[in-house]
Amino acid sequence: MTDPAAAATPSVPPTGAQGGALAPSASQRRDAAPAAVRATAVGAPQDEARVVSLAQDEARVVPPRQDEARVVPPGQDEARVVPPGQDEARVVPPGQDEARVVSLAQGADSLAIAGLVALSTVDWPGKLVATVFLQGCPWRCTYCHNAGILDTRTPGAVPWSAVRTLLAKRHGLLDGVVFSGGEPTRQVGLLDAVRQVKGEGFMVGLHTGGAYPARLAPLLPYVDWIGFDVKAPAHLYRAITRVGGETTTADRAFESLRMVLDAGIDVQVRTTVDPTVLTDDDVHELTDTLFDMGVREHVLQQVRTEGTTPEYRAALAAVRA
Ligand code: SF4
Repeated sequence: MTDPAAAATPSVPPTGAQGGALAPSASQRRDAAPAAVRATAVGAPQDEARVVSLAQDEARVVPPRQDEARVVPPGQDEARVVPPGQDEARVVPPGQDEARVVSLAQGADSLAIAGLVALSTVDWPGKLVATVFLQGCPWRCTYCHNAGILDTRTPGAVPWSAVRTLLAKRHGLLDGVVFSGGEPTRQVGLLDAVRQVKGEGFMVGLHTGGAYPARLAPLLPYVDWIGFDVKAPAHLYRAITRVGGETTTADRAFESLRMVLDAGIDVQVRTTVDPTVLTDDDVHELTDTLFDMGVREHVLQQVRTEGTTPEYRAALAAVRA
């Protein structure tokens, strides 16, 4: 959901729930000022999947995958035993908070992690974070930069234990961990992962397009900030995401955004403006819709051509000619 070029761009100020003063009705706002005034435009997109080729980033930590069977010796309270095999349950006896049983298929060790950036200053505005890129996305956005991270069948390249090892060395140095993608909420192991990150005393950030509202809901109590990508007005969502029925992806996205806003979580709502689909009026309409939902700043990002398909680049060139 983020872009590698973001590292070269200034941080975008935190927005959303803590945003500016109320304004009059949508029609009054439209009359009073163009959308460009109400929306914040930034120079480069941040929501597309970014290349996670391990050879391209020295900051990425990729220890060799280790056997999933491991025994965690007694810590503060008791031993946690993790048996081998995806079908066996991992039993975590009562700890500081609660007893829970997590199957390996649902635990953080099940995560397919495409890449890990040990230090990022741009993935969560104003925070120093490690960023975990989760493999797979159900959508196929017109301008997506990285087809390599979309396939949900591609196995992970980084074990969760590498993230834990990194965090163990970064207490006091990192503010938190951002989970990005792909669409990170696709993987059910994310819930266990965010719990573990919070348990280590780090804040949790999340990049999402809201494709899985039912999986997003249980994450919200553990998430401190969300970069939420809104693709288009509802009637044009499918033209961007290119999957599902007429309103399927829009329904899920706006349901997710509603939940995030109702939960009062700090959120930056942003849109990569694809001129092959969206007109200026469409962007105005979307900004008004978001305002009516309670969003007080809508960050607009320019589409980039790097990593997109030849067909998309040709279409973009045609509309820009
Ligand atoms: S297909 Fe869309 S939602 Fe999925 S990673 Fe690419 S830009 Fe993000």
